[in-house]
Amino acid sequence: MKLIVAGNWKMNGSSASVGLLAGRLAREHDAARVQMLLFPPFVYLEQVSRAVSASQVRLGAQNVAAQPQGALTGEIDTSMLLDVGCEYCLVGHSERRHQMMESNEQVAEKYAACLRGGLKPVLCVGESLSQRRSNETLPVVAGQLEAVRDLVGDVGLAGGIVAYEPVWAIGTGESASPAQAEEVHQFIRGWLADAGASDVSILYGGSVKASNAGELFAMDNIDGALVGGASLDATEFLSICAAAADKTEE
Ligand code: PEP
Repeated sequence: MKLIVAGNWKMNGSSASVGLLAGRLAREHDAARVQMLLFPPFVYLEQVSRAVSASQVRLGAQNVAAQPQGALTGEIDTSMLLDVGCEYCLVGHSERRHQMMESNEQVAEKYAACLRGGLKPVLCVGESLSQRRSNETLPVVAGQLEAVRDLVGDVGLAGGIVAYEPVWAIGTGESASPAQAEEVHQFIRGWLADAGASDVSILYGGSVKASNAGELFAMDNIDGALVGGASLDATEFLSICAAAADKTEE
């Protein structure tokens, strides 16, 4: 299976900087061995879509409304994302769960909207530091997965990608150790297999950089990475992709 390396640019960039970044990634990415996904801010989606159109780089959005087009000021629906070239969409990123107070149920509604609208959802799950310290990691992750399964069923789960992102590792510079990440990935793999969705890719996210990507990708159940900060630097992001390509080659 080809590894996936996804770049979540969050609320960063300008027209000039995203043009340079996307252009270089499209030119230099080795698409034969790794699937690269980019998640720019909404306002730059169309620009990035044009910049990568001749490459194998694929585009996604960082968020979506659960509702169809209509009177909902400030929101963006799935048909608009398709219209500007998106094929993927993040749902349940921890920054949205914790800062925008998105509940498991709201995340599930967005996941379902993606499936209905023809986008592949990337479902982000993960525990906070206090939940890890009180040994709640696996039940928390199971609860986040279960809320989605309750709404879309096993078949719907099989239509997405899962990203395990421990909240304490996001943007902190402190990645989970390969063993910590693998323990949760193994749990998610088993949980998905029980739901008949064992082919779903499971990405790790949380302070992935060129210097730790190889040891994370060496784990059996890590199928790629969702990268925040390091995805804004083309050289760093391409090095992470190169580490993923090494695993694909094995
Ligand atoms: C993320 O935002 O999904 C993420 C993993 O961020 P960072 O790589 O910066 O920790």
